[in-house]
Amino acid sequence: MRVAMIGTGYVGLVSGACFSEFGHAVVCVDKNPARIEALEQGEIPIFEPGLEDLVTRNVKAGRLSFTQDITAAMAEADAVFIAVGTPSRRGDGEADLSYVYAAAEEIARAMTRPTLVVTKSTVPVGTGREVERIIRATRPDADFEVASNPEFLREGAAIEDFMRPDRVVCGAESERARELLRALYRPLYINETPILFTSLETAELIKYAANAFLATKITFINEIADLCERTNVNVQDVAKGIGLDGRIGGKFLHAGPGYGGSCFPKDTQALVATGRKHGAPLRIVETVVDINEVRKRRMADKILAALDGNAKGKTIAVLGLTFKPETDDMRDSPSLVIVPALQQAGATIRVYDPEGLHEARKLLGGMVECKDAYDTCNGADAAVIITEWNQFRALDLVRLKSLLRKPLLVDLRNIYKPHEMAAAGFTYHSVGRPPVAPKA
Ligand code: NAD
Repeated sequence: MRVAMIGTGYVGLVSGACFSEFGHAVVCVDKNPARIEALEQGEIPIFEPGLEDLVTRNVKAGRLSFTQDITAAMAEADAVFIAVGTPSRRGDGEADLSYVYAAAEEIARAMTRPTLVVTKSTVPVGTGREVERIIRATRPDADFEVASNPEFLREGAAIEDFMRPDRVVCGAESERARELLRALYRPLYINETPILFTSLETAELIKYAANAFLATKITFINEIADLCERTNVNVQDVAKGIGLDGRIGGKFLHAGPGYGGSCFPKDTQALVATGRKHGAPLRIVETVVDINEVRKRRMADKILAALDGNAKGKTIAVLGLTFKPETDDMRDSPSLVIVPALQQAGATIRVYDPEGLHEARKLLGGMVECKDAYDTCNGADAAVIITEWNQFRALDLVRLKSLLRKPLLVDLRNIYKPHEMAAAGFTYHSVGRPPVAPKA
C-alpha cells in the first residue's frame, strides 16, 4: 500500500518508518524544512532507540522518503495519516486543533484519488467529524473517508510498541475503510494482535480514557507514597502488594516526581475540558491534574528540606532532565518546575542528561552543563536524580561520595536501596520510603 504521513515528529516518523518496515511505501511530510532536510541527509532529528537503523534501512530499500510537498506525497497514496501536534491551548487546557484542521485543508486540496484520511494525532471526541466536514467543504467532489487510529506508543520504546502493540484501535465506519486498515496492519493482524474496530468517536475517546487512567494510576501511587513517608512504610512494598492483584496490575505504580511528557499532562487537561463541554465533568481526572501540578513544586520543596531548608550559595547536582529515560523529550518534564525553583532558592545547578541537554538549554537557563554524572557531582552539596537513565542506576558510590561536598542524595525515582545508601555513607532521601542517614 501507499501511505502519506503528515507530520514527521515522534509519532509520524516512528509510524512512517514502521509502516515502511511492514512493506508499505511511505512518504513522510513535514512543514519544518530543517526537519525534512536533516532526514534527507540521513540525520534523525529526535532521539528514539533503534529509529536511526529502521529509517536508514527503509530509505535504502526505497520504501521510505521525506518531503515538504504534500501534493507529491499524496499523488499515489491510498491512505493519508494526520500525525501533527495537538498541544494544550493556552488558558483553557483544550486541545489546540489548529494543526489538525490546517492539515485537513491541505489534504483536501492535494487529494487526486480515492483516499482514506486517518487521524493518528490524539484528538478530542468529535474531531474526526470536523475533519470530514472541512475536507468536504474544501473539496465537495473528493472521494474520501475519515478514520481514527490513535497511537499508543511510548517514547523510548516507540518502535517495539508500534511493532508489538497490546492492541490497535481503528475507528472506521465502512467495510472499505476497515479493509484498508487491516491491510496496513497486516503483519500485526496475522500475528493475532487484537484490532478493535469502533466508531470514530469511540476510537477518539479510547485514547484519552487510556491516558487519563494511566495518569490516575501514577497519581494514586504518588499520594500513597506521601502517606508512606508519614507512616514509616515503603511504597515499593505497597505497590508490589497491590500490583500482584490481577485486577490492579503492577505497571504504572512507581512513585515519583509526577507525570510529565508530551501526552499525559495535555491529554488529561483536554479530557477535563471535553467533559465540561459536554456537561459530564470528570472529577477524578480534574483532581489528578491538580495533584500532579502541585507535586512537581513539592519535589523542589523536598530537595530544599533535605538541604535543611537553605539552598543559598549551595550547589546542587541534577542528574537527568527529560521527562523519562531514553528520550530527548523535555515537554512538561518535572525538571522544568524543579530546576527553576531550586535556582530561585539561591542554588547553583550543575546538570547532566545523556540526551536532553540540547532541548533543555532552550527551556532552562543558568545551569552549568557537565559531561557525566561524576563531573556533575564534583563539589556539589547534594545530588538529585530526576530521571532514571540506566547509567545513573549503578553509580560508583565511593567515587560519588568523594566528589560531593556532602554525601547527600535525593532520589526522585527510587532507583537505589535505602540500606545500601546508608551503608555507603550517604544521607538518602527517596519517594515514599523512610529517609536514611549514613551508617556509622
Ligand atoms: P511532534 O511535535 O513531535 O510532531 C508534530 C510534527 O508535525 C512537527 O514536526 C510539525 O512540524 C509537523 N506539522 C505540523 N503541522 C503540519 C502540517 N500541516 N503539515 C506537515 N507537518 C506538520 O508531535 P508528536 O509527539 O509526534 O505528536 C503528534 C500527535 O501524536 C499528538 O496529537 C500527540 O498527542 C500524539 N501522540 C504522541 C505520542 C508521543 O509519545 N509523542 C504518543 C501517542 C500519541
